[in-house]
Amino acid sequence: MFDPEKFKGGKALVIGAGRSGAACANLLASKGFKVLLTEQKKAAELGGKLKGLSRSVEVETGGHGKGVFTCSFAVKSPGMAHSSPLIAALRNKKVPLFSEIEIALAFSKAGRLLAVTGTNGKTTTTMLLAEIMNAALRPGARALLCGNVGIPAAEAAPRARPRDAVVMEVSSYQLEDSSYIKPDAACVLNITPDHLDHHGGMTGYVEAKTKIFKFQDPGGCCVFNYEDPACRRLARACPSKAVFFSSKSSGGRLDAWAAGGKLFFRTGKTAAAVKPPALPGAHNLENAMCAGLMALHCGVRPAVIKKVFASFRGVEHRLEPAGSVRGIGFINDSKATNVDSTLVALKAFGRAKNVWLILGGQDKGTPYAPLIPFIRKTVKAVLTIGAAAGRIEKELAGTCPVLTSVTMEHACRSILELASPGDTALFSPACASFDQFRDFEDRGRRFKAFVKTLR
Ligand code: ADP
Repeated sequence: MFDPEKFKGGKALVIGAGRSGAACANLLASKGFKVLLTEQKKAAELGGKLKGLSRSVEVETGGHGKGVFTCSFAVKSPGMAHSSPLIAALRNKKVPLFSEIEIALAFSKAGRLLAVTGTNGKTTTTMLLAEIMNAALRPGARALLCGNVGIPAAEAAPRARPRDAVVMEVSSYQLEDSSYIKPDAACVLNITPDHLDHHGGMTGYVEAKTKIFKFQDPGGCCVFNYEDPACRRLARACPSKAVFFSSKSSGGRLDAWAAGGKLFFRTGKTAAAVKPPALPGAHNLENAMCAGLMALHCGVRPAVIKKVFASFRGVEHRLEPAGSVRGIGFINDSKATNVDSTLVALKAFGRAKNVWLILGGQDKGTPYAPLIPFIRKTVKAVLTIGAAAGRIEKELAGTCPVLTSVTMEHACRSILELASPGDTALFSPACASFDQFRDFEDRGRRFKAFVKTLR
């Protein structure tokens, strides 16, 4: 656990000048620590990242000097491998290492911490949960959204007052680096293989996830996906109240389930029926049940959950409606940067064979073949773009018509020419974006802007 008192008067080493590193350096400087921010990249490669830094933070770019060993503790950038020479050297010298989130929480007065993790669905669940908590706490208190959602914990959590709640999206990297966090309500949405090279295999990845509940006491709760065997296994080690949802089965051991177009939340001997948010796919029912269960644990009334579900429109770039042109619905799923996410999208839209699927971008080296059965069921044609086009065309050969389109704009125009009213143009690329776009957000925004120009 990071105890500021223990390190009082000492010097902090913050490794990595990303947004959360910079926020953490500023926070520690504002609390009276001497801070050295060290960064492997050269200053010129960092864009504007150093601009908002407090003047009292000492900055070192283009590598790490001897000064790093004069620090009494270090905060590690989540992306950095534990095997990196700097981390190994710090460990060797017994310099305590902490995560940015636990530093942030050490300076937070928030009455409650709600923490969301899992392989997929974290952002959607965290955003929905923050809206529910905000609605429940207003007026007089609020929910502070932070973590992997683009707002560093070090920026948001220390602003919380005792009556506020911190709602945090936590990645496996951040958990791995944390020595101690204690959420009042937590969840593990699902566990599928991801980032295995970083965690050194599935065991390391699962081990990191356990830290979301490891330090909870029996009064806390952790929500698990009952249909996910890895989640169920994990739940056995949970010291707090393990709570389960399922989008496939109902009743029994479950605390939330889906049936007849409604979500049911167990409240004592009865269950409250709530209409789910208007978002496509069973995965979004899971995200909604998870957020609902965490909120219920914090004493939120089902009526509040119902109201927020009715107004929640989802998160940008995740199966986001981008407009309808000549009766063809365009969907922006730019966040689908891997094959698994595109599978989820096809399952969500798999009611009829009316999908025009735009695939491609920067290849990630994983096979596209798992898409084949779903493409056969739901897709009229695949349109390929970007660097991965050749590989996709080869792997999907014989599955359905494939049109080489090169760019997203060209693919959209072809769909407009060929599709019928009632069809769906699904931009769910299954690839990274960096070959043609700055990032997946840039890719999604450009798609939406282009669709607006179509007549
Ligand atoms: P994360 O923050 O974990 O990446 P997001 O909410 O941003 O999650 O969703 C990213 C993608 O993950 C979505 O576009 C969808 O394809 C998939 N997804 C979302 N929720 C789930 C879920 N509960 N189970 C499986 N896949 C999901």
